[in-house]
Amino acid sequence: MTGDGTRAVRAGLPAVEPYQPPMPPPVLAAHFHLPGDPAVAPFGYGRENNPTWVGLERAIAELESPAEPAEAVVFPSGMAAISAAVLALVKPGEAVVLPTDGYQLWPKLRERLESFGLLVHTAPTSGDAQLAALESAHRAAAPVRLLWLETPSNPGLDLCDIARLSAAAHARGALVAVDNSLATPLGQRPLQLGADLSVASGTKGLNGHGDVLLGYVASRQPALVDEVRRWRTTTGAIPGPMESWLVHRGLATLHLRVARQAENALAVARALADRPEVTGLRHPGLPTDRDHALAVRQMRAFGCVVSFTLPDLAHAERFLTALELVDDATSFGGVRSTAERRGRWGGDAVPAGFVRLSVGVEDPADLVADVRRALDVARG
Ligand SMILES: *Cc1c(COP(=O)(O)O)cnc(C)c1O
Repeated sequence: MTGDGTRAVRAGLPAVEPYQPPMPPPVLAAHFHLPGDPAVAPFGYGRENNPTWVGLERAIAELESPAEPAEAVVFPSGMAAISAAVLALVKPGEAVVLPTDGYQLWPKLRERLESFGLLVHTAPTSGDAQLAALESAHRAAAPVRLLWLETPSNPGLDLCDIARLSAAAHARGALVAVDNSLATPLGQRPLQLGADLSVASGTKGLNGHGDVLLGYVASRQPALVDEVRRWRTTTGAIPGPMESWLVHRGLATLHLRVARQAENALAVARALADRPEVTGLRHPGLPTDRDHALAVRQMRAFGCVVSFTLPDLAHAERFLTALELVDDATSFGGVRSTAERRGRWGGDAVPAGFVRLSVGVEDPADLVADVRRALDVARG
């Protein structure tokens, strides 16, 4: 099996052909010439399939599952992928177990799921709570169809044990989906660890350039992939060919970005660890992090996000304003460093001074100097 970089630069590309471009251009088509029986046509109508999606889907599947065949289905955003995975696979009267500290839109999605007759149990990512929730949900009347994990969680950076929870869920007849947005397929391979689905917002590290929204669902089980793909065709939540092409183009540098961003994030986390005004510092790559041992077991790179808390709202705002190389902006995973006071959205249970910092590919010495200087300014 080749290495990550060798795989990333060619993932999903067609075989080399004389006089053809190294990467096929985006195919902009609402419909394709379609003689005869549509059932045997690979491409007929643009809501059903598109060659540019196929290239990106093959690439994502190769990266998520290099050793065994897998398939991916792309969506126009992470939330479109997440809602497709749940709604395509869980029926009214069945139960799901969700993280309490997952992506901030989960509570709103949960309300929708409950209004459609799905039963929802919740548990925090950290500790054994998800295992306990799975067990107690299993004893309740409705069968648990799906256990949803988000590891590392955004923005708290707690980890859970994908292999252990997958085994426990499978023993009870439940599927497991892992939100792999933060780690990216190069940082973590949920399917190899036993999960049935790896779902992600490609808007973050996968695309990495802050210019496209995208999502995907990947699995080694064709029956699950077919359900999710049928859901996409029916609801029409399809990504644009141009967006899909841009994400595919960017995958050629994913291994470089993931490695550099993880290295930079660790350098920034180490600088923050020295400061008395910083509390609750989290980064899976820090040897002192409470989830570091698990991170070493199940992650291949520790991600670009560092989270921590400054004494209060005003202190955090002074820090964000003083930063020069880190933009005050949401999202994460991009080549340019960003940070935000996460409490401004109101959706996460975090202290007012909680900062989520996404580390880019800048020179680490410059970033560390900027963060140290901004901390000095903020302290006054
Ligand atoms: C951003 C994010 C999402 C939502 O993705 P969009 O592309 O913004 O729709 C879902 N899960 C996690 C962990 C995220 O960080």
